[in-house]
Amino acid sequence: MVGIGEKKASILARELGLFTLKDLFEYYPYRYVDKSRFVKIAEIRSAEVYTLLLGKVIAKQIVGGAKSQRLVVRLADETGSIELVFFRGIRWISESINIGAIYVVFGKPNYFNGTFNLPHPEFEKFNPQKDYKKEKFMPLYNTTERMKNAFLASKQLSQIISAAVKKFSSFIEETLPQYIIDAYHLCSRREAIVCIHSPFGEETLAKARFRLKFEELFFMQAEHLLINSNRKSNSRGFVFAKVGENFNTFFSKHLPFELTNAQKRVVKEIRNDMRTGSQMNRLLQGDVGSGKTLVALLSMLIALDNGYQATLIAPTEILAMQHFQSINRFIGDMNINVSLLTGSIKGKSRKNLLTSLADGSIDILVGTHAILEESVIFNNLGLVVIDEQHRFGVEQRAKMWTKNTIAPHILVMTATPICRTLAMSIYGDLDYSVIDELPSGRKPILTTHLYDRDVLRLFDFMKKQIEQGRQIYVVYPLIKESEKLDLKDLMDGYESIERAFPLPQYQISIVHGQMKPEDKEYEMQRFKKGITNIMVATTVIEVGVDVPNATVMVIENAERFGLAQLHQLRGRVGRGANQSYCILRTKDELSSDARFRIETMCRTNDGFEISRADLQLRGPGDVSGTRQSGVLDLKVADIVKDEGLMAQVRTLAQNVLADDPHLTKTQNLPIRKYFMTKHKVSDFSMIS
Ligand code: ADP
Ligand code: MG
Repeated sequence: MVGIGEKKASILARELGLFTLKDLFEYYPYRYVDKSRFVKIAEIRSAEVYTLLLGKVIAKQIVGGAKSQRLVVRLADETGSIELVFFRGIRWISESINIGAIYVVFGKPNYFNGTFNLPHPEFEKFNPQKDYKKEKFMPLYNTTERMKNAFLASKQLSQIISAAVKKFSSFIEETLPQYIIDAYHLCSRREAIVCIHSPFGEETLAKARFRLKFEELFFMQAEHLLINSNRKSNSRGFVFAKVGENFNTFFSKHLPFELTNAQKRVVKEIRNDMRTGSQMNRLLQGDVGSGKTLVALLSMLIALDNGYQATLIAPTEILAMQHFQSINRFIGDMNINVSLLTGSIKGKSRKNLLTSLADGSIDILVGTHAILEESVIFNNLGLVVIDEQHRFGVEQRAKMWTKNTIAPHILVMTATPICRTLAMSIYGDLDYSVIDELPSGRKPILTTHLYDRDVLRLFDFMKKQIEQGRQIYVVYPLIKESEKLDLKDLMDGYESIERAFPLPQYQISIVHGQMKPEDKEYEMQRFKKGITNIMVATTVIEVGVDVPNATVMVIENAERFGLAQLHQLRGRVGRGANQSYCILRTKDELSSDARFRIETMCRTNDGFEISRADLQLRGPGDVSGTRQSGVLDLKVADIVKDEGLMAQVRTLAQNVLADDPHLTKTQNLPIRKYFMTKHKVSDFSMIS
């Protein structure tokens, strides 16, 4: 690469994955340092911020024994003085620094022994003729320890990159069509890249960054849309032409309530997908309690009406069991064979089940990941519904494709409240439906924060609710690394609840991860049937449990839960007509993040707002629970801050592709070229 020597080139390749000139150009700074202003020594407040100082050297001294020898130089301005400390090149530096002279010094302060010093700053003699403001922003690049050892720290990398950019900028090709550049007043790609590595001012830098974000988001969205439309035209899907007896009978005779408008709309979207002749890949997003299970059931009935089997996959045994039961309850005496397959179904019953599945006598198979196993063979699988996608990898989704000669339709349901921007970037290649309405008659859950010491108030409140016939969850966090400790918390909590709520007046259930599945199930059933008043549990009940009579969710050690989890847990109550409550219990001392989470929960019930707060706090990779999706390693754009731009750019990409689906028009040549280079294909239709 560009005359930087083989050794350095190989370090860049190994450490940062930079192989070509293009890679180098696109290795953007992560931040800039403002060098436009000298900071006064007394103003230094933070160890993390690069600082530019102007001062006079008033002393220098080599101190310490052979091993810890260092040069200490004292720099002073009219507000105070600070030590510059050097550990390497001591003699040479000492000789080049003159006491009494004025220096421009630049470095990152270090806080040590109650005061700041500057380890190994850059320095030069102050030159009154020089305009220091010209180097307004200094770019900072991420580097690794190995690179620093090979003298390839941020500063050297910056020199290499800006030299390369200056020398070879004529090779930087435009990737966006001129009509888009004009319409959005973008600067050219060349200008943007030159500027992002050596900016001359705030305004041009902002323009460069905008241009690069725009392009990044545009190509991300365009690629999703292309994959999606290619899949639609290439991948054949079963045609579910009709809505038949199962669906109609269920709808007219068994449906216990009116569907919400959102449910109706979504069922229609799914039905339309499944009759087109191409495979459905749809994400169904709906907040907890919005009634996704019913939508899943209605979709599965359409599959049955067309002579196919359907399956519903849940992330845990408890959930699978619950789906199994609620589907059976919904369909009542209809002539539909629903079966359950989980990891704990073994031996003869498993064998029998597999036989009936293969000969087609099972219509709907509900279960866990166990369904993915190769030995599970369907007679004619037409629809796969996956509940709670965040525990389900993309690979697992792909496994289901192979369960029939043509890939079955796939419906992914998630309650993880991810906001639209994130959904658009993670699942942008899926079609997207949203249930944005809760069944009517639900009252918003009231959420309060109580400290651990408020235990008497809590128990009082719980007793009043139980008197009114309501049921209560008390949940403890379970975080793997400290499982034993957590279990102790749970057991201690259980004992104190037992003392306050004695038999025979009160009945208490307990469920935790170390119990056998059948024992868990037994306890769950007792709670569901209303035999027990209180369910003490770890987060095994996090997802999907449905007991409408439960109106109080007490979350212990709430400061240890993330926002998404808190929201999921809270969603376990508020499912019936009675007023529900969520009580977040914490210790007195809270970190600022924890306080923010608790306050967010007390302020709002809106899953989307919560997800946005979560995204702010944690960043996208963690929220989605999966880093597999390459779309999240954006270089310049930020999916939280650039939400508006993302939406704008997605619409643009949609319009461009609607007008020119195969990008054959001359004006769109740059876009086409971009994708062909990226995927190293000559045939454009292969991008998928
Ligand atoms: P989730 O979307 O969280 O999976 P569920 O499917 O478990 O929600 O539904 C929550 C509760 O609401 C269930 O008790 C379900 O029977 C009920 N429900 C679903 N749809 C409606 C509706 N249209 N009207 C009233 N209750 C409904
Ligand atoms: Mg559910």
